[in-house]
Amino acid sequence: MMNKKIAEGCLSVCKKEKCPVSCCDDVGVEEWVMEYLAFHDRARVFWESKGIKFKFKGDRVGVTNCSTGKECKFLKYSLSKDYDQRPIDCKIYPYFVDWEEIDFNKKKINLYFADFDCPLTKEQMPPEFKDNVSRIIKRDFSLLFFGADFEVIFHDQCKYDIYKTKRVVKIVRAKN
Ligand code: SF4
Ligand code: SF4
Repeated sequence: MMNKKIAEGCLSVCKKEKCPVSCCDDVGVEEWVMEYLAFHDRARVFWESKGIKFKFKGDRVGVTNCSTGKECKFLKYSLSKDYDQRPIDCKIYPYFVDWEEIDFNKKKINLYFADFDCPLTKEQMPPEFKDNVSRIIKRDFSLLFFGADFEVIFHDQCKYDIYKTKRVVKIVRAKN
């Protein structure tokens, strides 16, 4: 059963509990297998004991039942006070990493808006927010890729709405 949506933005500038939008959807979160293996596999039994479900779908892992309806379980039952253990896309929302567009030769990562629901997307995105997102991406990708230093490129636009139309857009892109 789908849990109630909650607002789980943690970064500064995020409107947090005052936000009119609940950006958290614990039925639609995915991470790449590589990300899962690096950050979640070792504690899988622990997370599953809290009710979180991981389901492999090809090269991705779906994460469901990850909220209590009031809080994110990765935050509520955190195993580290220093490290946010949520999937990367949860940590940087309203941005998301387009893994298919990562340039591994030049070490460039493109970030797009996942959707336009977040009020931060309606105005000039604060530099402070981007700095925090950039820091998270650089740190996590350095951990994933043996210390590599990736450049983060922000696109303050929606490539596709990953939560509502991803499947449709992917079909269209495949035909082109
Ligand atoms: S992992 Fe946490 S922040 Fe991400 S969708 Fe689930 S409940 Fe929300
Ligand atoms: S929708 Fe945006 S501003 Fe609102 S809680 Fe989520 S990240 Fe923060």
